[in-house]
Amino acid sequence: MNQQGMLDDINEEVHYTRNLIGKDALDARVMEAMRKVPRDEFVPPDMKAAAFANGPLPIGHGQTISQPYIVALMTDMLAPGPEHRILEIGTGSGYQTAILSQLCREVYTVEFVAELSAGAADIFKRLGYDNIETRIGNGYQGWPEHAPYDGIIVTAAATHIPAALVEQLRPGGRMAIPVGQPYSHQELMLVRKDARGKVLADSVLGVAFVPMVEAPTGNLDQE
Ligand code: SAH
Repeated sequence: MNQQGMLDDINEEVHYTRNLIGKDALDARVMEAMRKVPRDEFVPPDMKAAAFANGPLPIGHGQTISQPYIVALMTDMLAPGPEHRILEIGTGSGYQTAILSQLCREVYTVEFVAELSAGAADIFKRLGYDNIETRIGNGYQGWPEHAPYDGIIVTAAATHIPAALVEQLRPGGRMAIPVGQPYSHQELMLVRKDARGKVLADSVLGVAFVPMVEAPTGNLDQE
């Protein structure tokens, strides 16, 4: 399986889920970013052979790099624009971060496992993705210093929509977040804050994410 095979599989799954996601094709800019960013750079060495398969893969620390279809879909849900500033919760491998960095002005990404955050930062540096800022911390609190954000993406399953994240979303902004109980049924939600600050949440489809940890054990003060 190569990068083109991955794109074909994403298009196929988009088509297959078109009634749920309300479209038969994702935004062309999003698919272009999926074509450009080398997913094999973000998976552990022993996983390279499966890097372009349309499935999640283990990245250590009990975490996974999300399935390419889900990465593309959640990116599309944000409707990312070239001037947008985006907050990501759950850096993990850094792959989703890299995709967003190709579509937006700045990406701020929070991860509570220090080693994962550092590993992703190394890859960003090596590949020349210089519009990303990483932070070690608890994503339930967001990153208030750079708020408000045009878009927020959460890549671990939360038990509820965190109030701090809603607060850090700009009016007119969009958030993509899986909500549900750990290792149980979760719904990928699209949360929209309208120009007057009213918040609407719609469920898009059932998903399976690693849980978002309430009280992370990592060092929260490091940057
Ligand atoms: N976007 C990543 C997904 C990684 S899995 C990728 O495609 O590689 C989800 C990540 O969320 C894990 O790395 C996990 O450590 C992190 N995470 C879980 N709970 C968190 C929390 N409360 N704050 C910050 N990061 C969290």
